[in-house]
Amino acid sequence: MAKAYKLTIPNDRVERLQYMKRMFPQAAGVGLSDDWRGGRQEALKRLNSIDIEAYNKNRYFINGAVSRLSPYFRHGCLTLKEASENLQERFGVDSEKLVQELGRRDYFRRVWYQQGDKIFNNIEAAKVGVGEKPLPDYVRQMITGVPCMDALVRDLMQDGYVHNHARKWFAAYVIHWLKVDWREAADWFENLLLDGDMASNHLSWQWVASTFSSSPYFFNKDILARHTGEKHCANCSVNCPFDASVEMLDAKLFGQTGAEPLIERSITRSTATRFSTNTAVAVFVHDEMLSAAHPLIKNSTTKFFVFDEALYAKWPLKRLQFVADCLSELPNVEVWLGDTREVLESRGAGQLKTQNTPNLAVKHLLEPFQTNWQPEVKFTDVEVSAQRMKRFSRYWSKVGEAFYGDAFPSKPKTF
Ligand SMILES: Cc1cc2nc3c(=O)[nH]c(=O)nc-3n(C[C@H](O)[C@H](O)[C@H](O)COP(=O)(O)OP(=O)(O)OC[C@H]3O[C@@H](n4cnc5c(N)ncnc54)[C@H](O)[C@@H]3O)c2cc1C
Repeated sequence: MAKAYKLTIPNDRVERLQYMKRMFPQAAGVGLSDDWRGGRQEALKRLNSIDIEAYNKNRYFINGAVSRLSPYFRHGCLTLKEASENLQERFGVDSEKLVQELGRRDYFRRVWYQQGDKIFNNIEAAKVGVGEKPLPDYVRQMITGVPCMDALVRDLMQDGYVHNHARKWFAAYVIHWLKVDWREAADWFENLLLDGDMASNHLSWQWVASTFSSSPYFFNKDILARHTGEKHCANCSVNCPFDASVEMLDAKLFGQTGAEPLIERSITRSTATRFSTNTAVAVFVHDEMLSAAHPLIKNSTTKFFVFDEALYAKWPLKRLQFVADCLSELPNVEVWLGDTREVLESRGAGQLKTQNTPNLAVKHLLEPFQTNWQPEVKFTDVEVSAQRMKRFSRYWSKVGEAFYGDAFPSKPKTF
């Protein structure tokens, strides 16, 4: 049985980052930069400094004024509901483009609740041939021979964040040019991100692959050059695989192969055979509820957070440090390193309260305990039919209209 350790997260940030480095010597990558301080205070600062005019104008450009809030939503520092209310109150209907993106996160999360572990395999049949190759080491080592793609991975490893367009280009390159199995690539990619989220990540990879969209996503050199301000292309002298018209690339990438179904990967989790006989009530804090404003965190019951290998073995150092920043703002949470079940058992916890999650790996860990899964704060109460949930545009035509009423700029089509 592995030993569990109680951690004492230092209040001083410099000490805290060093402490996490010492406690997780196996964690990969560089430390968290000052630009990415974790926690609710930083999240609120970012939310309140959004320049909506700039966002609406240049969000598609790699240096555009995007919010960089994704790691904060991912770890529950901020809810989508409070962010959308804040934006609507400050900017009225001008907030729609950004609120729509919040909706995209909500949409993927709803799909995860609906589909569970099925999001880790093709949701739909691919519309074009998708490959089954393993992710080559030269991609991980950033020696693909395509400098813009290597630079993108380098940025990701350094920062834990890259713009949405860069993510799409990289996923398209790996899936459609290199013919790699999207599932292996998505798993690897998610573990480089500060905002790594199984739903947003895996469903975006599927959207690129065409297993959760009606056609594959791909791009050409003109698109990349335009949205990066020529950053990568201006002095690039390699034989560019993207330098062709969209039509030519379409024929080249998808002309030959028919869609073959990928062999389904299964996730097996043994059912717990021992159930806790403890009776003490405790709050289990998981990584999607790291906010001092969360009702369960304000609760006076004993609270536990566990850095458990089963969940975090592949997380890079910077992400563990980001979580430590978040935890440092939470009063009276016992933080442990070890096996969740053993920690809770040894601390006498038997009845748990926690926030509901679509993450079945977390649910599995808590199987031996009586757990009260309290609903998370909803982005919106609007119900969306299964038919509409097949595509984001259909979801947003309903949800967006409920948000903006007659002023809804993306006037819904009929579905
Ligand atoms: C291949 C791929 C993998 C991705 N993996 C993740 C992931 O693991 N975690 C993650 O949070 N997002 C992921 N995304 C979605 C998106 O790239 C990021 O959410 C976005 O880049 C975050 O930057 P931002 O906060 O500045 O976004 P903003 O444009 O400021 O948007 C505000 C918020 O809306 C949400 N949002 C914006 N765009 C998207 C989107 N396309 N899909 C879902 N939510 C969105 C995010 O929560 C974001 O913080 C992925 C996209 C792709 C193409």
